[in-house]
Amino acid sequence: MAKQKKKAVELVALQCTECNRRNYTTKKNKQNLQGKLELKKYCRFDRRHTLHRETKVK
Ligand SMILES: [Zn+2]
Repeated sequence: MAKQKKKAVELVALQCTECNRRNYTTKKNKQNLQGKLELKKYCRFDRRHTLHRETKVK
């Protein structure tokens, strides 16, 4: 039986919602997570924790 190659894990960037800089990249499992990722992360430009939202990696 041939293995099915499904892209379950996707690389995404985490963008700061305060300064709109992309500070992090992470992997997202599309089978487990639905909708946009939103995480509180440290932004070194704002020098504090801000909300980071998932965006596409180029
Ligand atoms: Zn920021």
